[in-house]
Amino acid sequence: MSKTEQFLADLVGIIGPGACVTDEQALEPHVTEWRNVLHGRALAMASPGNTGQVADVVRLCSHAGVAIVPQGGNTGLCGGAIPDESGQQLILSLARMNRIRSIDAEDFSMVAEAGCVLATLQEQARAVDRYFPLSLSAEGSCQIGGNLSTNAGGINVIRYGTARQQVLGLEVVLADGSILDGLRSLHKDTAGYDLKQLFIGSEGTLGIITAATLRLYPLPGDTTTLLVTLPDSGNAVTLLAGMRARLGDRIESFELVSRFALELVERHIGDAGLPCALSGDWFVLAEVAVGEDSEALGQFLEEAIESGQLSDAVVAKNIAEAEALWRMRHAISEAQKYEGPSIKHDISVPVSRMQEFLHRCARSLHEQEPSAKPVIFGHVGDGNLHYNLTVPAELAGDAKRVRRVTSTIYDLVAELGGSFSAEHGVGMTKKAYLRQYRGATDLDLMRRLKRTLDPQGLLNPGKVI
Ligand SMILES: Cc1cc2nc3c(=O)[nH]c(=O)nc-3n(C[C@H](O)[C@H](O)[C@H](O)COP(=O)(O)OP(=O)(O)OC[C@H]3O[C@@H](n4cnc5c(N)ncnc54)[C@H](O)[C@@H]3O)c2cc1C
Repeated sequence: MSKTEQFLADLVGIIGPGACVTDEQALEPHVTEWRNVLHGRALAMASPGNTGQVADVVRLCSHAGVAIVPQGGNTGLCGGAIPDESGQQLILSLARMNRIRSIDAEDFSMVAEAGCVLATLQEQARAVDRYFPLSLSAEGSCQIGGNLSTNAGGINVIRYGTARQQVLGLEVVLADGSILDGLRSLHKDTAGYDLKQLFIGSEGTLGIITAATLRLYPLPGDTTTLLVTLPDSGNAVTLLAGMRARLGDRIESFELVSRFALELVERHIGDAGLPCALSGDWFVLAEVAVGEDSEALGQFLEEAIESGQLSDAVVAKNIAEAEALWRMRHAISEAQKYEGPSIKHDISVPVSRMQEFLHRCARSLHEQEPSAKPVIFGHVGDGNLHYNLTVPAELAGDAKRVRRVTSTIYDLVAELGGSFSAEHGVGMTKKAYLRQYRGATDLDLMRRLKRTLDPQGLLNPGKVI
């Protein structure tokens, strides 16, 4: 028996034959990234059914020197969950670990395994009159383990924070197969270092998240969905500031969307077109928990129109209209995929610099690559924009020009005190930028942490650092 055959036999011994896939065709969706841009090969995919099995698989890999690529819903956009091209790495899928271990409505918390699909967690929280606020367009497929490993953001960060803020406790399998058992539901705990924070956002390079204690909230009550037309993209920030000052902490989402992004949805996604005729180039889609105080919002909108801060506002009259507006927003990424090649950026700048960023970036890119069409949308309340460009195939295929476009955007982001990766992570596609834009001390500390927690370098090698 070869070493590989022995490894696969031992693996089957731990998880059973049905949970170990080696067939190339069956592996195909797991070695290909969502946009079909990145492609790898894998030795096999293992799907353990519980934390003990994850620990045993990790221990086996440590003995055999086999690298592990953890995978959740494989909706990540930086290639973090895709194995390299060697065909020697093991994909560790958490999909079978999809139990909600407990929900405690009184404690406002639930314990969920890493493979739980995000939308299922939202539904299960609602079933006990609680709210789990993490929400993103991929919520029907992405898993909470993936969300935590990327510190996902999404549309509700402005009120509730990122995935990191939703975690009270974490269970993690470490590189040597030991289990960090931190599934506490404490809101206060200053006993030593807060170890769970190391694993959130580390994209599977420091440990395998197997379960989490998640924070729940009261249901937000009646919300109002509105689509606002702006005279200029820059008005989004002043509008948001005014709305916050008037309505306080009740803005759940505040999404900037460009007209071209909506036109792509209209063109490519059958059931998600514009709900009404719209003029203007820039829109904000917002969700506000107005409760019984809807007059304050109405008054604010009237005043904002009078002062020229916004050109028009459409308020969804019922749930169907609200859902149609959100379907349109959520379909943008998919629509852009059908439109053709794209160059994507997930940047953040301080909210107060957003206007400057949008204007300067548009000018520079137009001069540099006039054929690139910006498809801009994002979470403007968090200073986070998906600054995507739909480009002709000849530009997409010219690595030098693509790099120049990206540098133009990232250099401006850096100048304004922002980040080249707001919520999608680094994975394999943005590693070079981490080296370029994070300081030497940061990088040195990251490398030392990696060496301490994963001395053999077997946890998702080649990703992040
Ligand atoms: C249409 C669309 C819209 C999106 N919108 C948003 C958005 O608004 N905000 C946002 O933040 N992201 C967004 N994303 C990106 C993506 O959905 C998120 O990054 C998501 O959190 C990834 O979850 P996943 O389960 O698919 O993880 P995967 O893609 O499977 O993995 C992502 C990373 O986490 C690691 N990983 C996965 N599970 C574990 C685990 N249990 N333990 C350790 N490491 C693990 C993987 O190795 C990889 O590095 C979007 C993606 C798509 C396709």
